[in-house]
Amino acid sequence: MIYDYLIVGSGLFGAVFAHEAHKVGKKCLVIDKSDHIAGNVYCEKIEGINVHKYGAHIFHTSNKDVWDYINQFAEFNNYINSPVAIYKDELYNLPFNMNTFSKMWGIKTPAEAKEIIEKQRSEYKIGEPKNLEEQALSLAGKDVYEKLIKGYTQKQWGRPCTDLPSFIIKRLPFRFTFNNNYFNDRYQGIPIGGYTKIVEKLLDGVDVSLNTDYYDFIKINPNIARKTVFTGMIDEFFGYKLGTLEYRTVRFETEILECDNYQGNAVVNYTDYEVPYTRIIEHKHFEFGNQEKTVISREYSTEWTPGMEPYYPVNDEKNTHLYSRYKELAEQEKNIIFGGRLGQYKYYDMDKVIEAALHLVSEEL
Ligand code: UDP
Repeated sequence: MIYDYLIVGSGLFGAVFAHEAHKVGKKCLVIDKSDHIAGNVYCEKIEGINVHKYGAHIFHTSNKDVWDYINQFAEFNNYINSPVAIYKDELYNLPFNMNTFSKMWGIKTPAEAKEIIEKQRSEYKIGEPKNLEEQALSLAGKDVYEKLIKGYTQKQWGRPCTDLPSFIIKRLPFRFTFNNNYFNDRYQGIPIGGYTKIVEKLLDGVDVSLNTDYYDFIKINPNIARKTVFTGMIDEFFGYKLGTLEYRTVRFETEILECDNYQGNAVVNYTDYEVPYTRIIEHKHFEFGNQEKTVISREYSTEWTPGMEPYYPVNDEKNTHLYSRYKELAEQEKNIIFGGRLGQYKYYDMDKVIEAALHLVSEEL
């Protein structure tokens, strides 16, 4: 054995694990099939702007330990995510708050907003919400659901809201104050200089091999390491032998525009089902950029098929059940640890990935 750990995937989970293991003298090799490190937090400079190549990543957490941890590797700016939603020719603030309700119904006070929502909600007679549609209707009523949630969710997940779990919409704040902050977390920001630099620092001193496919590599090097930390797709690892888990993938249409400010905000969601993309990201606004040009990405969500990059696990009932069976198989693999969004088939945010990796590494070492 040459290494203590073979780490498959150089995203946040793998990089944090490698960093901590290396720190206490463990020999680690990180491999990644891609030609760059950092997985889906990878950023690339275009026209002097850090472009989030695999979709917008806004760091937010309420865990002070995680915040202190990540701040060792970058300084964060004071960006607060406040997306707007465009529905046909109407524009609303997100998340769902008094600015949204006031624009939607021409009202001014929380009491007026609550009265309207209560009236709309009572028409549905929903008990404990059983799916995303019931959850959204019972939180926000019919108008908000129809204009801001239904079409967007259907585009993003490719499934009707009645087939999706309610927790997906509970990620978003819903509040009766004039507050457009998309997150309730205590800490938030974008790392100055981008995320790739964080991962570079995490992997400082660790052996890294890019353009390296795990399945090819392990055939030739079966005894390379004592243990493996695997952050790829868990069903692929087991040769899909129990069936395939479903994922959503995202395609980006990125464009450089000859103007300095295209949409006035980093994130604009298109919540109407008829518009084919879910959102447009204007990357410079994450870092308050004043470059002459701008770079935008239109985001199209589709079902994952082999050969594509998986982004989101589809945590509905069917897939959750299938995952639990793969998890049983995983638990029998004593020398392999599964981690991250794909290894654990979990809709993790970045802070939760770091938390999970730190937890795991402390158990391991
Ligand atoms: N969502 C919505 N309308 C919006 C934004 C979000 O209905 O304008 C719903 C949608 O179901 C989405 C979920 O809220 O999947 C979570 O959104 P979030 O922005 O957290 O998704 P992510 O940034 O992870 O893609």
